[in-house]
Amino acid sequence: MAKKPNSTNKKERHILALSGGKDSAALAVYLRDRYPKLNLEYVFTDSGCELPETYEFLRRIRAVLDIDIKVIKSERDFDWWLKYYKGVLPAPQQRWCTRDLKLKPFEKYIGNDIAYSYVAIRADERNREGYVPKQGRNIIPTHPFVEAGIALKDVIDILNKCELGTPGYYGWRKRSGCYFCFYQSDNEWKALRKYHPKLFKKACWYEENHSDGRIYTWRGKKAGKPLFLRELEEFLPSGEGSCFEECNHKTLPQICRKINIEGFDEESFLK
Ligand code: SF4
Repeated sequence: MAKKPNSTNKKERHILALSGGKDSAALAVYLRDRYPKLNLEYVFTDSGCELPETYEFLRRIRAVLDIDIKVIKSERDFDWWLKYYKGVLPAPQQRWCTRDLKLKPFEKYIGNDIAYSYVAIRADERNREGYVPKQGRNIIPTHPFVEAGIALKDVIDILNKCELGTPGYYGWRKRSGCYFCFYQSDNEWKALRKYHPKLFKKACWYEENHSDGRIYTWRGKKAGKPLFLRELEEFLPSGEGSCFEECNHKTLPQICRKINIEGFDEESFLK
């Protein structure tokens, strides 16, 4: 367990930030079953640009676990921040989106309290760096899955057993997050265009509306040439996203294999 900072009479809180993905949902189930008396606050930091499937999955979590989920939001929306950053779209090297739309509102919600923040990094991805609080901060990351040796197959097992299932976007996209997330693969962008054409159009709009003539694209450049979303080829149903419509008829291992969820080992799952 993470150590408590040397202090004080501050209030102590236990917080689980749901991301809208499978791991944090499984952690919610795990903590409820393992520590039923823990006074856990469930929160979701809404960037305002989430996928419809994410909201649907959160509604399912609320209903299946019978919990309240506090939705936290930045006081300013994405468009406000985009103006603030003079139209520079967020990118892997400048993730102002995460800082301003996710981390700061979360830290503001915690305030000065001592908060144990339960993070759903799994034992099979222990090298992944999660949220790193600033030195001396009062937010203490806690990793129950790493401590208990819980890996992907266990997460899937947890979700299967409680019948929560997985978010609908796993049929065509690997991660939760904003519809325009720059970490998407080309196939995921193509699938976004197919399944959420209005959101795709809005993502194109962000690329093509710089009044001063500058160019920023979500996918950056190749050989010095900007990669515009509108130039993406058509989504091919035989590709990565093709299991979208079939999702509800497949078992969780089948879905994970189809979309190649990182680290998923079907053989060990089926043992
Ligand atoms: S999901 Fe992607 S675009 Fe959204 S805040 Fe996270 S890194 Fe930024």
